[in-house]
Amino acid sequence: MSPILLSRILLRGGRLIDPAREVDETCDVLVADGEVEAIEPPGLLGIPEGATVIDAAGYWVVPGLVDPHVHLRDPGFPEKETIATGLRAAAAGGFTAVAAMANTSPVNDTPEITRYMLAQAAAVHAARLVPVSAVTRGLGGRELVDFAAMVAAGAHLFSDDGIPIDDQAVLADAMEQIARLGFAISLHEEDRALTANGAVNAGEVSKRLGVAGVPAAAETERIRRDLALAIGAGAPVHIAHVSTALSLDLIRAARKRGAQITCEATPHHFALDDRAVLRWGPDAKMAPPLRSARDVEAVVAAIADGTIDMIATDHAPHDPHSKRMERLAGLFSPAGDCRRLPESEVEALTQSANGIVGLETALGLALELVHRGAISPARMVEMMSLKSAQLLRIDGGTLERDMRADVTLIDPNVEWTVDPAKFISKSRNSPFAGRRLKGRAMLTIVAGEIVYDGATETRA
Ligand SMILES: [Zn+2]
Repeated sequence: MSPILLSRILLRGGRLIDPAREVDETCDVLVADGEVEAIEPPGLLGIPEGATVIDAAGYWVVPGLVDPHVHLRDPGFPEKETIATGLRAAAAGGFTAVAAMANTSPVNDTPEITRYMLAQAAAVHAARLVPVSAVTRGLGGRELVDFAAMVAAGAHLFSDDGIPIDDQAVLADAMEQIARLGFAISLHEEDRALTANGAVNAGEVSKRLGVAGVPAAAETERIRRDLALAIGAGAPVHIAHVSTALSLDLIRAARKRGAQITCEATPHHFALDDRAVLRWGPDAKMAPPLRSARDVEAVVAAIADGTIDMIATDHAPHDPHSKRMERLAGLFSPAGDCRRLPESEVEALTQSANGIVGLETALGLALELVHRGAISPARMVEMMSLKSAQLLRIDGGTLERDMRADVTLIDPNVEWTVDPAKFISKSRNSPFAGRRLKGRAMLTIVAGEIVYDGATETRA
């Protein structure tokens, strides 16, 4: 059952930022019957009959944000997130489409699961869901899924994210088959022999806490291997959540050799270094881990110089028990003065699930880069909309007449404080609690319908 689309919305006097068309100017945008009906200089459209007029003066009007990497935990883990809550959180964060990873239970490795995900999403008035198919059955790393059948069911990206594909022959075969279908493969790059039982980045912080560290080499060595495979296969390959300086150097070098490589960085990898673990403990634990301040600098530089193509949240909701909060919560504090952990707590931190929620903080964190002059507003929109839409092979990433109206209205200057208790996501695991951010989504429009209205939310 699809709703009858009758709404007309006039976004009046906003700053339209559309990097695909190199537009950055004040415009009126009229949305009608699910599509962009007109984009004109201010005042020219008047007030079309029956239109809801939204005063967008002082706001940015941008093509809907697209996140190429989220975990919605559905099917399988309703205590962490569902497709409904995840897509609503996405809309609140300004996202009009999100790519939902395959590490659900059951894994999304059959058309049946893909169709289940799309059916759940269709029943929610929120962001769109773009299914990501597993590369290997059950994420087992051995037997390839039926890629053509998954594309027919609606998959737009392939990834075993969460688990690296260790077998080179399996991966090379997957790269070639997926490329032939016209899609990309997204790789979670980790050499688990080097990660061993590491819980946080190897360095000062892991030493201070007395926990095993994850060396930068666990990521860079696997990226080095897979870039060589990608060049050999001539296939489009996407590297997920790049976190180290050397990884970025390797990507630059591979591109010079003709590799069709894209890559993403997460807000936490450009906004936090591993010292955040001393404050937030399990809520700052993820894979790859938060890295050194030098690596963070390198990630920001790579965002600025274009090496990093897009920002992805890696939204990874977890319930408190999965994070071992019952054993660890009291050990970490805002003072960041946590010392060597007792043996049993080292074990708890090691067992604590990886990842943080990110959909409702990503835009505010990306805007930090804009406000401090590291990137332009247009570059931010390119990274959070255009490039991700291109990776996923979906419409969007730009706003043109007669295109589907997926639009985000951003107030770049409103100041607010992150309060996980107010997240629409079901989970609260965020190391950004209490952080003052400047800017957020005010209105999210999907196919011409308002799916999130910030004016009706209260966030102080
Ligand atoms: Zn991953």
